[in-house]
Amino acid sequence: MTAPGKQRLFLDTPVTYLKGVGPVRADALRRLGIVTAGDLVFHVPHRYEDASTVTPIRALEPGMQGTIVGTVISKGVIPTRKGLRIFQAVLRDETGMMEVSWPGQPFLDRTIAKGDVLLVTGNVRFFHGRQLQPREFINLGDEEDGAMAQGRVLSVYPATDGLSFKLIRSIVDAHLDALLPLVKEYLPADVLKKAGVPGVADALRMVHRPSSIAEAMTGRSRLAFEELFFVQLLHQRAKELARDRRAGIRFVSKRTLTTTLREGLPFQLTGAQVRAIREIFADMTSDRRMQRLLQGDVGSGKTIVALFAALLAIENGYQAAIMAPTELLAEQHTRTMTRMLAPLGIEPILLTGSLPARERKAIAKRLATGEPVLVVGTHALVQDATSFANLGFAAIDEQHRFGVEQRKALGAKGESPDVLLMSATPIPRSLALTLYGDLDLSMLDERPPGRKPITTALRRESGRARVLQFVDRQVEQGRQGYIVYPVIEESEKTDLKAATTMFELLTAGPFAERRVALLHGRIPGDERDDIMRRFRDRELDLLVATTVIEVGIDVPNATVMLIEHPERFGLSQLHQLRGRVGRGADEAYCILLGDVSPDVADRLQIFTGTEDGFEIAREDLRMRGMGDLFGERQSGVPTFKIADPIRDEELNERAREAAEALLARDAGLERAEHAGLRRVLGERYARSLELFRVG
Ligand code: ADP
Ligand code: MG
Repeated sequence: MTAPGKQRLFLDTPVTYLKGVGPVRADALRRLGIVTAGDLVFHVPHRYEDASTVTPIRALEPGMQGTIVGTVISKGVIPTRKGLRIFQAVLRDETGMMEVSWPGQPFLDRTIAKGDVLLVTGNVRFFHGRQLQPREFINLGDEEDGAMAQGRVLSVYPATDGLSFKLIRSIVDAHLDALLPLVKEYLPADVLKKAGVPGVADALRMVHRPSSIAEAMTGRSRLAFEELFFVQLLHQRAKELARDRRAGIRFVSKRTLTTTLREGLPFQLTGAQVRAIREIFADMTSDRRMQRLLQGDVGSGKTIVALFAALLAIENGYQAAIMAPTELLAEQHTRTMTRMLAPLGIEPILLTGSLPARERKAIAKRLATGEPVLVVGTHALVQDATSFANLGFAAIDEQHRFGVEQRKALGAKGESPDVLLMSATPIPRSLALTLYGDLDLSMLDERPPGRKPITTALRRESGRARVLQFVDRQVEQGRQGYIVYPVIEESEKTDLKAATTMFELLTAGPFAERRVALLHGRIPGDERDDIMRRFRDRELDLLVATTVIEVGIDVPNATVMLIEHPERFGLSQLHQLRGRVGRGADEAYCILLGDVSPDVADRLQIFTGTEDGFEIAREDLRMRGMGDLFGERQSGVPTFKIADPIRDEELNERAREAAEALLARDAGLERAEHAGLRRVLGERYARSLELFRVG
């Protein structure tokens, strides 16, 4: 069938050989992760615009919601009194004209040209005439392209510099018919049937060229299902292997140290803490090796739970280690533990990279003798020079701050120590099971009693001076505070206030008399630790910072947190930030400052209205999906291109059942009929190599 002179097409044919793709476009495609023809066919639209339901401009009234398609007849950037810059365009269709306005997005002036046809969806309001407030829009290009698009469902692709979604769409469109027959089904037939989703080639056609939004969603469901299914396969297999292979230490609960600790505590353990400790002890006293995640909101009391586990190991004559992401946090843990363990005659050892070589050697010597000690430290714990003679328990605090390799390295330090990972991102159980499916899970979903609420409020720009005065009065009274910005530096692309520039402004004006330091991610780690130490020791009054201050630092004298541009943070992230204050006996405050849109104000109300991290996370997930939950990528946690384990909860359940059934039949995926599945797993997930010996 090959035409003379034409290369035959395969899925692994490099995109450069495709018609319409030269070296420049191939480069741009590579930035999107598209190298082969197969990658191209799996580059699916991330959203759709329904140009088949367009409203004529004349028919739109204030208060209505609608989608319009119109030509840009004039445009420009307008400054406002408050320093915000607004991009405005006037669109025209056959029935009339309408102003559309994008506050804070002056950069659109560079990408939208006069004569372009825009499709815009949003609310109409009355503001010097009718005005459309865009929720979403796409640029359909010049009039000819625009006219072609009308009346269809438009696929919008993830694009990149030099390669618009329109170009991508035309490249995909040109090759789709040739490529689809090459995509062979790799999910087993019974899995597909149980899932109730279309085959892969059908699904790809539906997502690229849907005749309706509903059809696009049907196609999408198949691709989302397979992502969830693959992750379930890997997790379930990993958990199974961990169970079989590694016999753990069988600790005996002697109730010597642990009971003494419990009796000496100045407070009662919460029910959730008691439950978590019981689950951990059950793991540790069994011959299975513990791989458990302890999840709990900021301030839920995870440290003490880890301490009980450490003491169980020590009373059995084993060593215990607790690893924290920063020196400061390690120091903090050592301090509190030293206090709590003094009556037991145990003194924790602090091990960090900045210890003098002589001291490190002395510690290494003690560890090598097998003396049953508690070591608290940073990643210095997993460096080669540190070796434990008999590590029985290892805890990793703020585990998402570590890479997979570091987490594994600590577990590999002993024969087979029991491992406890700790995380302060409270997420619903079902989601935790998907993200951390190869771990067992304990949840601290209860707050220690007697905690004062943190007064939380949203204030408008017009109140800025008063807010700054309020912060200053806290400092006046001997308290400390944080001022948080979403970005380090200002940029042309946004109108965001940035930590560095605001630091200059604030220290030149409102806080000229105060001791203020700047803290952000581009400051080297040891300097950052130093600044935090000075803040802890009250040598500083205020920190102007980005989100780097999120990590579990405990400065009880800090009573006020001011967050600018609250609209730029996820609710869970705001909650983590707020957790830095209210740790002492004094009244604490969290103030969000900025003129936000009504939508954003609604969203923020959930945050200002509750301090329950689980509730906040649920709302965050419901409204914004998975992407923003952590504010950053977590290493070792699966990422999904298409699926969303929260919104696709039901699909996820089917994926879990299907994976379970498949592994029950063919645990190693060794049967011939599973060869296709093994191949695709191997291509997409590096981890499958170790789990299924694929490739
Ligand atoms: P996180 O879960 O954020 O790591 P911590 O372990 O740092 O929380 O605990 C926060 C504070 O609460 C600490 O000062 C700790 O001593 C205290 N705490 C822990 N458990 C309880 C409890 N059951 N009752 C009262 N205070 C507690
Ligand atoms: Mg903590």
